[in-house]
Amino acid sequence: MAEARLVDQKSTFSSFSHLLDARILRALADMGFARPTLVQSKAIPLALEGRDILARARTGSGKTAAYCIPVVQKILSAKASLPPDDDAHTSARVLILVPTRELSEQVTAYLRGLVAYCEKNIVLANVASGATSHLQRALLADKPDIVISTPSRTLGFLQSKALSLASLDSLIIDEADLILSYGHDEDIRQIFGGEYLPKVYQSFLMSATMTDDVETLKGLALRNPAILKLEEGED
Ligand code: ADP
Ligand code: MG
Repeated sequence: MAEARLVDQKSTFSSFSHLLDARILRALADMGFARPTLVQSKAIPLALEGRDILARARTGSGKTAAYCIPVVQKILSAKASLPPDDDAHTSARVLILVPTRELSEQVTAYLRGLVAYCEKNIVLANVASGATSHLQRALLADKPDIVISTPSRTLGFLQSKALSLASLDSLIIDEADLILSYGHDEDIRQIFGGEYLPKVYQSFLMSATMTDDVETLKGLALRNPAILKLEEGED
């Protein structure tokens, strides 16, 4: 019943209809997502206001949708204000860093469901696994809006210039408590320490626990974040 306790009983996703595009709401309904979990109900409005977010909520509390929904919404809003044939963007709008290939596949699968009604508007690229030369060509040809990757793969594509983050809007680090211990420490430091990231972008750190590693990443990635610490059973 821990799952139910983290669901916000007071709201439904349709009560977010002033914030979320109808195509997102339709996809959520198809997925059987009727009510936001607590972390989703807190994070989505803050993310859409442009805040950086540090969210700690237990495994299974719905952190994937808590960051995927606002980033998809932000891309749809940004594209709605562009002229129809504007092809100027050649840099990823969103980068999702995950510790493992398995997680990159799960996040990508979730995003594919979420963009089911707007897949022409939102191009996804999971570059965490597969042949580098093939992915490199795909990155250059497809100009993905959302790139899902591990830090080591990301750094490689930045160094080879297959990937540009020059006009990045949002950076997400999922499983922030685990990502450094998976051997990505040096790669993350190089991503943040290089000239790859723009001066201003929005960041989210998602984590199941608060650890020294999360504090380190907070220092690297977040500016004046909203801090959501959701205890088990809190609602
Ligand atoms: P976390 O990353 O916090 O461990 P996940 O994002 O992997 O959690 O979500 C855990 C499970 O709960 C997934 O199977 C997901 O599809 C489901 N889930 C998440 N949010 C909702 C929701 N609002 N309604 C129904 N199911 C949900
Ligand atoms: Mg997760």
